[in-house]
Amino acid sequence: MSEADVSRREVLLTLGGVAAAVGAGAATWGGLELLVHQKQTVDSWTKAVCRFCGTGCGVMVGMTDGRVVDVRGDELAHNKGVVCIKGSMLPELTRIPGRLTSPKIRKDGKLVDASWDEAMSLVASRFSDSIRQFGRDSVAFYGSGQLFTEESYTANKLFKAGVGTNNVDGNPRLCMASAASGYVATYGKDEPPGCYADADFASVFFIIGANPYECHPPIFERIRQRKRLHPETVIICVDPRRTKTAEHSDIHLPVVPGTDLLLLNSMASVIFEESLQDQGFIDKHVRFSDGDKDVEQAAFRQFLQAYAPEKVEHELGVSATDIRRVAYLFARSPATMSLWTMGMNQRVQGVFLNTMLSGLHLVTGQIGRPGATPFSLTGQPNACGGVRDTGALAHALPGGRLVANPDHRREMEEIWGVPRGSISDKVGLDAVNLFRAMDDGRVKAALIMCTNPGASLPAAARYQAAMEKCFTVVADVVEDSESQRHAQVVLPAALWIEKEGVTGQGERRYQFTPKLLNPPGEARSDLAILVDLADRLGHGTLISARTPRAVWDEWREVSTHSLYNFKGITYDRLAAERGLQWPCPSEDHPGTARRFVEGDDPFVSKGAGIEFYGNHDKKAVVFLRPYVPSPEKVTPEYPLYLTTGRVLEQFHTGTMTDRITELHQATGDAMFEFHPEDARKLGVQAGDPVEVRTRYGTITGKARVTERSRLGVVFAAFYDAKLLVNRVVADTFDPVSKEPEFKVTAASVRKVTA
Ligand code: SF4
Repeated sequence: MSEADVSRREVLLTLGGVAAAVGAGAATWGGLELLVHQKQTVDSWTKAVCRFCGTGCGVMVGMTDGRVVDVRGDELAHNKGVVCIKGSMLPELTRIPGRLTSPKIRKDGKLVDASWDEAMSLVASRFSDSIRQFGRDSVAFYGSGQLFTEESYTANKLFKAGVGTNNVDGNPRLCMASAASGYVATYGKDEPPGCYADADFASVFFIIGANPYECHPPIFERIRQRKRLHPETVIICVDPRRTKTAEHSDIHLPVVPGTDLLLLNSMASVIFEESLQDQGFIDKHVRFSDGDKDVEQAAFRQFLQAYAPEKVEHELGVSATDIRRVAYLFARSPATMSLWTMGMNQRVQGVFLNTMLSGLHLVTGQIGRPGATPFSLTGQPNACGGVRDTGALAHALPGGRLVANPDHRREMEEIWGVPRGSISDKVGLDAVNLFRAMDDGRVKAALIMCTNPGASLPAAARYQAAMEKCFTVVADVVEDSESQRHAQVVLPAALWIEKEGVTGQGERRYQFTPKLLNPPGEARSDLAILVDLADRLGHGTLISARTPRAVWDEWREVSTHSLYNFKGITYDRLAAERGLQWPCPSEDHPGTARRFVEGDDPFVSKGAGIEFYGNHDKKAVVFLRPYVPSPEKVTPEYPLYLTTGRVLEQFHTGTMTDRITELHQATGDAMFEFHPEDARKLGVQAGDPVEVRTRYGTITGKARVTERSRLGVVFAAFYDAKLLVNRVVADTFDPVSKEPEFKVTAASVRKVTA
């Protein structure tokens, strides 16, 4: 055995609990303390993808005797060898306790083992009975940004073209719907125009409603590397909390929760007041709209007068001086890159926030050049490529088409070879409304795959009860999730490395993950479960593609009928390369790093330079969008803001990561975080039990006192089922994107006895 065959695993942890991990020979992460150091013998290394967040890091997986023994960042992938601590735990993930190994059916209140045939016969008969008795809209599919693209595509086709219901939605509705709606409204097409490599060129980073230090570490590392090489680079962080990202930024604007549209509108007012706009870019590439009709630029300027910094600073909680400074930096930097995620998306004004942030880039011409771009970070590995692009959402059809558009429905019926009228003209039920329909009896049977809505939905207790009223089927990899406790059938599913398939991460990059292990017991891939269900429901002919490669080839062909065209991204190319970014219409096309830019994007007209071809006039739209105070504004009865989020070591509801000992130990149990002054006023000390009450419910947990919290703001991470904070967050959503409001809930707190 040579030295090269010995892999060194180093898992690093800061004293503050924030961690990163590097494989042998990969980049280092400064100021970290060694936690684990072990040596492993590795027989072979295989290229794969980490699927614990939307960064989609390339990893090399070390195998010995058919086991996963090691993992390191892939130096040739877009993440340049850097992975975070979650990605470094892949070997431990393969050994987590509590894997589901056989189907289960609820009998006398208990889930008991059943054969696949018994379980799937029951599922098919209940779905068929429901369709026959109550119509095709009485059944539903609820999927996930963690399924493979082939799986989401197949589920969407089965339910929309086969069953004939658009009740197909999923957890991307909870995280990215406002970003998707914002892109469509502005550019006519979903998905970010830029790419991660823009971080290597930006001079100003405007990070708003995101915490990439913890939630997208390789990207924040890239930003910090840019700053190391170019110290004049300015990192701006807009966040009510002093997060790790805020701590490592040059400017932190701790806005009052729910008021950040005031900031964006105010920055726009400064830009026009100080003549910082790029008038040439506006004249060529932009039109203005009030949402109902096009308006003149003068109307936009008039609209902005209400948002002068001195008029908004008090409500916003940021000084007029800081607003002006940030507006100037944003507009005048050689290249400004904005990054955002759930803090802007999970809001009742989420779409307005998204369109206004794109608007700032458009009026300043900060788009379409290396480093100049709006760029939404995504929370899940395959929300973009798997769910948004395949149109596996209640209002959508593949390739950016809409259910509401009769031409789009007809086009998809022709492509899928189903009779005219097969696809319903009725927009389906989005996530929250789907579970409300399960509650009131409109939906009688639902299949939930690869997600845990019993913990991730707002007002979760209400929707847990809804799952019990319906015939709920849950396919999952581990047992005893919040969702399974309310399901009638539970199906054992394969982990992502126990099957093969494609994911599309946040920069339009499709990546292939090979099958590395066999699933335990009787667990099956979600694709196999869907194919079985299709056969039993009588749609086996429609779902004729039955292997991941066959489905991918069908989906590639479907994409050629749209501006998402990725015909050139074959399995063979994906196996050989480090992912490819669409559009990519032919096998000799290198993929598209920057969309709408001539030379990169094959759909831009020759000589156009930049062309927003998603809209009929090839111009992007800047919207006049008024700030409306949050319905969750604090009151004397509810004097604090409750907000939620993630921590570095845990992914979503923790069903996988919290079963990994090292990650559980790194985070411990979730707690409510208070500013020291709030804690003093409440008479609360660290570790005290507290009761948090909102209009949606009451929960108790332990207090942590930290200056990370803004005065008046309580924070809790949502990974811990023991502190299910989503039980008490606001049960409201953006009227356009239907994305729930997780970030702003008025709350009251009192100390209780243990
Ligand atoms: Fe990369 Fe996200 Fe995986 Fe961490 S969790 S290694 S950031 S893909």
